Amino acid sequence: MSDPGTLAKTYEPAEVEQKWYSSWERRGLFHARVNPDKPAYTIVIPPPNVTGVLHMGHILNNTLQDVFIRYKRMTGFEACWVPGTDHAGIATQNVVERALGKEGKTRHDLGREKFVERVWEWKKQYGDVIIKQLRTLGSSCDWEREKFTMDETLSNAVREVFVSLYEEGLIYRGKYIVNWCPKDHTAISDDEVTYAEQQGKLWYIRYPIHGTHDSLTVATTRPETMLGDTAIAVNPKDERYAPLLGKFAELPLTDRVIPILADDFVDAAFGTGAVKVTPAHDPNDYWIGQRHNLEQITIFDISARTTDAVPPPYRNLDRYEARKRVVADLEARGFLEKVEPYTNTIGKCYRCDTVIEPFLSDQWFVKMKPLAAPALRVVEDGTIRFFPDRWTKVYVNWMTNIRDWCISRQLWWGHRIPVWYCEASENKTPECARPIVSRTAPQQCPHCGGSALRQDEDVLDTWFSSWLWPFSVHDWPLDSKTGKSADLKYFYPTDLLVTAPDIIFFWVARMIMAGLHFGPRFTGSGELKANIPFDDVYFTSLVRDDKGRKMSKSLGNSPEPLQLIEEYGADAVRFTILFLAPLGQDILYSKEKNEIGRNFANKIWNAGRFLLMNRAELGDATGPGEFNTDHCDLADRWVLSRLHSTILEVEQALEVYEINKVSKALYGFIWHDFCDWYVEMAKSRFYGDEPAEVKRSVMTRALDVFDSALRLLHPLMPFVTEELWQTMRQRGEGTSIMRAQQTRADKSLIDPSVEQEMDFFQRAIEGVRQIRSEMEIAPSREISLVIRTSPAHPEEMFRRYEGYLRRLARVSGLSFIAAGANPRHAASAVVDGEDFFVPLEGLIDLDVERSRIQREIERLSGLLNAVKTKLGNPSFTNRAPRDVVEKEREKQASFERNLEKLTNNLRQLS
Ligand SMILES: [Zn+2]
Ligand SMILES: [Zn+2]
Repeated sequence: MSDPGTLAKTYEPAEVEQKWYSSWERRGLFHARVNPDKPAYTIVIPPPNVTGVLHMGHILNNTLQDVFIRYKRMTGFEACWVPGTDHAGIATQNVVERALGKEGKTRHDLGREKFVERVWEWKKQYGDVIIKQLRTLGSSCDWEREKFTMDETLSNAVREVFVSLYEEGLIYRGKYIVNWCPKDHTAISDDEVTYAEQQGKLWYIRYPIHGTHDSLTVATTRPETMLGDTAIAVNPKDERYAPLLGKFAELPLTDRVIPILADDFVDAAFGTGAVKVTPAHDPNDYWIGQRHNLEQITIFDISARTTDAVPPPYRNLDRYEARKRVVADLEARGFLEKVEPYTNTIGKCYRCDTVIEPFLSDQWFVKMKPLAAPALRVVEDGTIRFFPDRWTKVYVNWMTNIRDWCISRQLWWGHRIPVWYCEASENKTPECARPIVSRTAPQQCPHCGGSALRQDEDVLDTWFSSWLWPFSVHDWPLDSKTGKSADLKYFYPTDLLVTAPDIIFFWVARMIMAGLHFGPRFTGSGELKANIPFDDVYFTSLVRDDKGRKMSKSLGNSPEPLQLIEEYGADAVRFTILFLAPLGQDILYSKEKNEIGRNFANKIWNAGRFLLMNRAELGDATGPGEFNTDHCDLADRWVLSRLHSTILEVEQALEVYEINKVSKALYGFIWHDFCDWYVEMAKSRFYGDEPAEVKRSVMTRALDVFDSALRLLHPLMPFVTEELWQTMRQRGEGTSIMRAQQTRADKSLIDPSVEQEMDFFQRAIEGVRQIRSEMEIAPSREISLVIRTSPAHPEEMFRRYEGYLRRLARVSGLSFIAAGANPRHAASAVVDGEDFFVPLEGLIDLDVERSRIQREIERLSGLLNAVKTKLGNPSFTNRAPRDVVEKEREKQASFERNLEKLTNNLRQLS
């Protein structure tokens, strides 16, 4: 028999957590390798932005992933959790630009190459903040496999995919609306536009209907853009305009006619319900134009001055000058119906504050329809399952109406588009106008042989690298240098994706498309099932504050995760958020709720300490293996049954990702069943007069059950469970609870009749305890108990529990009555129709108690009357705030309940 370890009096998470995390990492326990003897279980992390710091969403998301990974690792799988970060184009570029701004510089001062170098430096210095924070949380990621979306191998994957899709005709160049700064002469991304409300106007312009004397009026905030109109659109359900559909309108100030058409996008309630459509200068109009094949007329140049595409009187004007001229002429010629004040939102350049101009420019697109078709099928037919299922509908709806994906971004930080243009001045052939799309930088133009080549200035959308994540992390496309084809074959497809639902389209849908499209190249299978990137997707809940508000910096209602971990311990933070997170529902969160987790950790710690101390004395017969049933009584059979019922519940809940059920089941079993009942009942045997052999046997069983419970809880609370598991029994060198196997549910040990009998017994004890507390019987006083027996609960049964009754309810004398009158001066509890009496004579001074109760009844009656009077007064109930009235009502109910109890107690004493 080995010496047991020791445990500190109170659990100090910080020290324990640090010790075990570095030990696990040092020993390579997080690492997974190709293992033909085990099935693989893989999760790829949703790569957090390299600029990121841990927030509550990460806490939830990564705790969930860690629970599944740790559980699978303990149930016979080679579990691999691949971590990494996303280069997050715009976010990262912004951080570095802000730093430059403090030096009074812009990225243009540095130039592209120097600026990108600067971003890499920043990444080296600060880019692993979030990765360190994930370690603090206890995440058992396979850090040897950590990836960054701009690593060389992942960049190879990006280029391979771009070029392949281009060669397949699935990538093309087209015009797309971007945010353009007419001062800086650059496109800026959506995140770089600052929006503000502005008092503007709404101009109502009359367009004559061609070939009739009628006209139709449209409302617009930008009258000058009418020069670029190519249609008028109305809502198809708007009956006012139904007769005009298919007709044409004459565009005022020009000699053009434009079609009148129907489009769902048009809001019949805005303005007149008819809108002008300017596809080249409005993002919404752009999409209407795409849907109806409308011409795009660019009326502004890069400085937002009018072009030659407009009639001569309006050419070469600044956009505001053009507006003045257009409005004046519309009015002079009777086309202006009215002008109204109107508040609208305008976007400005974040750098120079110039109003941005929606502008058509050359961009790269992925054709989505051919990629979406199989990706739609695998979700509809259940090959990929969504939890909760309601996201399936959202997904199907989006995939059915999918638009092409604009993948070029006007940034410097990211994967530069692998496209070059020939700039040869001599020997230029007509083909030279075609872009050169290549996996490696070309040395010369394939058409004319010229060496003057210019690479496309743009980079790819960040999602263009992360949509390849489930296979690019294994270094696809594999070359002779890495050759990790065995890894890719073994770990792909992954099993589970845990993600926030807000990126279902940006990321989840696109990963499915990429997996199905490129998978056959490395799985060697044409089956959809073999190529999907994951089997199941778990969409996490939203973490809100306890008033149901979204967590935000400005409200200051989001706790700082690292502080929480410092204050409560990582285990407590992990357990609490799981405990609060029902699948598919919002989490109402507050810092204080972490006491749930902290108290739980302390409870388990104390149970461990108690067992350990007694183990030293009684010994631990770790002979025949788990759960020998020697010297089993009701409590033993019950705790084994409850343990296995709990394991079964955990196994079943994990299958369908009901992690909240898992945490509740474990909490109930460990806290209530094991600590509050089983350990208390075991005490009466440890301290009783049973033979040493029996005591040892009971101790062993308690340790066995505790051991199983720790393993079961380990995925949720990895640190405290490891510390206890290591200390409770001598473990071999290099072992860890992380790599121990879970106890699997053994249905033969689940006995509903035992659980039922124990339940009756527990309620009886609780009834007696209730009497003790109501009658204010001192905890040290022993009581006698009179039980009225019945055929269902005979005397012999209670005799068996006598030791427990003595210990748990401090009962010294047990007697039984069959039927007839109740004992005198006794308080009673009723459980399942059986009476339990506690005679009070001699226990409390009946006279003193009677007058005490009498006084208390008088006091409460006075208070009750006052509340009743208040609530009977309509001027109070009508005028006071609702919660104040509600409080008074609660008081009344509480006074009435207490009075009833006191009256009942008084009756028992008379
Ligand atoms: Zn600007
Ligand atoms: Zn050329």
